[in-house]
Amino acid sequence: MADCVLCGCCLPGCPLLAATGREELSPRAKALLAGPSKWHAADGHPLPEADVAALTGLCLACGRCEKLCPQGVKVPQLMAALRAAHPNFKQWLWKQWITKLGPCWGLAARGAALVPESFAPAQFSLALKGLKGLRPGAGLTPWLSITDLPEADFAAKFSGRPLAVFDGCVGRGPRAAWGETARRLLRGLGAELAEAAFSCCGSTLGVAGLPGEQRDVRRANIKAWRDAGRPLLVTYCATCRKGLADYAGEGAELFADAAEAARWKDAVTPLSLLLSGARGKVSRGAPSIVGYHRPCHAPELPGGGDADFALLKGLLGARLRTPASGGCCGFGGIMQLGAPELSAKVGAVCWANLDRTLGYSAAPEVVPAYVLSGCSGCVMQLAATAPANVPQGARVGHWLEIVRRN
Ligand code: SF4
Ligand code: SF4
Repeated sequence: MADCVLCGCCLPGCPLLAATGREELSPRAKALLAGPSKWHAADGHPLPEADVAALTGLCLACGRCEKLCPQGVKVPQLMAALRAAHPNFKQWLWKQWITKLGPCWGLAARGAALVPESFAPAQFSLALKGLKGLRPGAGLTPWLSITDLPEADFAAKFSGRPLAVFDGCVGRGPRAAWGETARRLLRGLGAELAEAAFSCCGSTLGVAGLPGEQRDVRRANIKAWRDAGRPLLVTYCATCRKGLADYAGEGAELFADAAEAARWKDAVTPLSLLLSGARGKVSRGAPSIVGYHRPCHAPELPGGGDADFALLKGLLGARLRTPASGGCCGFGGIMQLGAPELSAKVGAVCWANLDRTLGYSAAPEVVPAYVLSGCSGCVMQLAATAPANVPQGARVGHWLEIVRRN
């Protein structure tokens, strides 16, 4: 990997730096401390790696810095390698949470709702709040009927090609309703649905410094895909989509050959892209203004732009608003356990940006704090960091939750 030249091009993109003003948390500091040439103390020795790992581990892995870096420095990858080299209790906990407890998330979300906030250990406070927001039955009330689907476009591009939905950890657990709605819409398009036993995409395991566990889930998912006849892999979570697309690059050795890796990459398709051009009707009682939170890993349209936002804008028109500056929600996977206070700070900045765009503080009687997103991590984090002082209560959900079942 290329070395950092300290140009600072990445600095404006880092949500952690923006929320804290602490240069030692910036991508430049991380790249300098952990990059190929490393930082040396005055006596000429490199700094103790465990200390560097502890400091640089405070990273959301949002990837915003690497998109701005002219050198191609990949800070999230550097951080993942350091976390892997210096495992700790938080990683063990994260591993259990993702690989062993996944099937129990629905139950855990219900349980989290019963734990008084003052009883929760500070380290788990944010994770528990996020889980509570995801408990089954706590989703948004649907208010959008899809009246027309782009069946002809779908048939022209994908006729006869089987398709499987990749639900991800939240979609297989507490928010199974997301997958049900996605499948209903796909059947409406005329898709031939194949079922496959997928597991976690592995993205969060890699970020947490658990490369062995990440490799295992990637292998299992590739096998499930092969067994299902190599279908189109439809995702509705932005982070899952990125996690799966990465298999063809950093996980390419898991495929039989380059052709199979390319076929996998080509198969990973966001649901919003397939629904592009759909029309809908908003029911009475729908919120007057709806916020959209763009995930750091939002699915891109072929010509650029966020595919989820484009779909929703077409369906909701002027009702939908999003902050021009975007902004990370601050989820950061394992960082929620390591530094929940930093994660919450970034979340607060994100909500402040949303407020400036939506205006729910200025006119709380008419504008609700109502936000949609297309990433399970963002939905969880925004629910955990939602402002408590809005009279109508803040509402957060995946955009699939507003689609009516008719
Ligand atoms: S990955 Fe995100 S949080 Fe981490 S250093 Fe880069 S921009 Fe900052
Ligand atoms: S990480 Fe890249 S963009 Fe940031 S200071 Fe170093 S070389 Fe410049």
